[in-house]
Amino acid sequence: MARKKKLKICLATAEFAPLAKTGGLADVSAALSVYLHGAGHDIRVVMPFYSTLNRGELKFEPVDNFQNLTVTLGPWDVEYSIYRTVLPRSGLPIYLLRCPALYDRDGLYTSGKDEHLRFLLLSRAAIEMCQHMQFSPDIFHCHDWHAATIPLYLKTNYAWDKLFADTRSVLTIHNIGYQGKFPAEILADMTLGPNVGHLHQDDLSSGIINFLKTGLLHADLLTTVSPTYAREIQGAEYGMGVDDILRARSDALIGILNGVDDAEWDPQTDQLIPRKFSMQNLSGKKICKRDLLKELGLDGNLNRPVIAVISRFVSQKGFDLMEKVLPRLLTQRDFSLAVLGSGDPQLEAFFDSLRRQLPSRVGFYRGFNNKLAHWIEAGADMFLMPSRYEPCGLNQMYSLKYGTVPIVRETGGLADSVQQINPSTRSGTGVLFRDYDEAGIDWAINTALDLYKDRPLWQEIIQNGMAMDFSWQQQGEQYVNIFRKLSGK
Ligand code: ADP
Repeated sequence: MARKKKLKICLATAEFAPLAKTGGLADVSAALSVYLHGAGHDIRVVMPFYSTLNRGELKFEPVDNFQNLTVTLGPWDVEYSIYRTVLPRSGLPIYLLRCPALYDRDGLYTSGKDEHLRFLLLSRAAIEMCQHMQFSPDIFHCHDWHAATIPLYLKTNYAWDKLFADTRSVLTIHNIGYQGKFPAEILADMTLGPNVGHLHQDDLSSGIINFLKTGLLHADLLTTVSPTYAREIQGAEYGMGVDDILRARSDALIGILNGVDDAEWDPQTDQLIPRKFSMQNLSGKKICKRDLLKELGLDGNLNRPVIAVISRFVSQKGFDLMEKVLPRLLTQRDFSLAVLGSGDPQLEAFFDSLRRQLPSRVGFYRGFNNKLAHWIEAGADMFLMPSRYEPCGLNQMYSLKYGTVPIVRETGGLADSVQQINPSTRSGTGVLFRDYDEAGIDWAINTALDLYKDRPLWQEIIQNGMAMDFSWQQQGEQYVNIFRKLSGK
């Protein structure tokens, strides 16, 4: 049998854990890249060198000959330099675009007038970095709207370069709710020249340029992060205004469920939790719960179930349902809440007020805290994720691995990763509700609290979840297979 050729991949992303993260995009970019690198493929990750980068112990070296480069974005000559770092555990190299004028900001994303320039630079510089390195990728793997103009540029402005003659582009949609929509005044900055005709013309006439849509039209292959979400976004309810394009391209759209990075999320090896534990020996989980209650200043009754929420506070995540039912349920039922997150100030105020009303049963940490996220996953009994839509969702998978039973809405990746508990067959891993309404979430939380009382059953449910395999070994190979098919290698 012939040995399969290794692939050459350039992966462009706005987030990469732990360097720069606001959500699942960072986890997936990192875990997939590490997997592909470990499998022997030549993968070059390109991302912005944000001033807020979480540098840890990493060293960032300027790459020789790739300093003070220029990309022309319309009237702007944008100067940048390429830096390189290598992840210690995996040896994966990452290339970072240092451009203080665009990336020295308070956060990863801004609502500034030059936001489009920040990600046009990412896209154009990723392509030009390949040129500088004479690296001819089989696959250009573009993530979300930030890198979604790359497929168009490869087909137009850079089509002259033989380096890309066999390059195929893949656009992965992590969340179709974020599209990178800009006023048509930015057209000149795209530097498309006569290639403007490749933009969505109706949008253009109505004064809009939509980066994600541009990628949906021009990428050779589209993927998204769960099979159910791949189906859902082809309909008007979940398609966020681009469902018509996705339906037209349905043959080129594939859903691959995200994996979990075992090096980061495994209760048997996790350095961030008070006590490690496994499916065979859950005693450490009890200690995690005890310490979590203490950390959050909650009453230490270990028999009272703890329901956890870890999330960006945005409407996608189903907070309006939580607002409707949690105050009432907290008076009707005996459980505690452990909430970690930030975002919408109104939602922050909601959890703050719950905490003030019931300080012994409601813990709320406002902000982003990775260690506490691990701790909560380990110490809680249930994880609530009533999302309005959820492309994949990672926390429900972390929860399953950490013996924390998910209570989720049956949508997107939640539907693909959690199985309904059936007490009579002692099967299933969590509680799912279908309709996005008060009755749905109310039923789901009450059901989980009732099931919790049957402790032998609950233990089996926990173990069903912990036995599931969400490793990147499986999911990563699916990407390799589609990359091979697409590139003919
Ligand atoms: P999304 O990408 O829509 O935010 P996911 O469930 O796919 O949702 O991924 C969220 C990721 O961000 C998970 O790794 C989760 O643990 C992490 N996360 C979200 N909010 C916080 C927070 N406040 N502190 C720490 N980690 C968080």
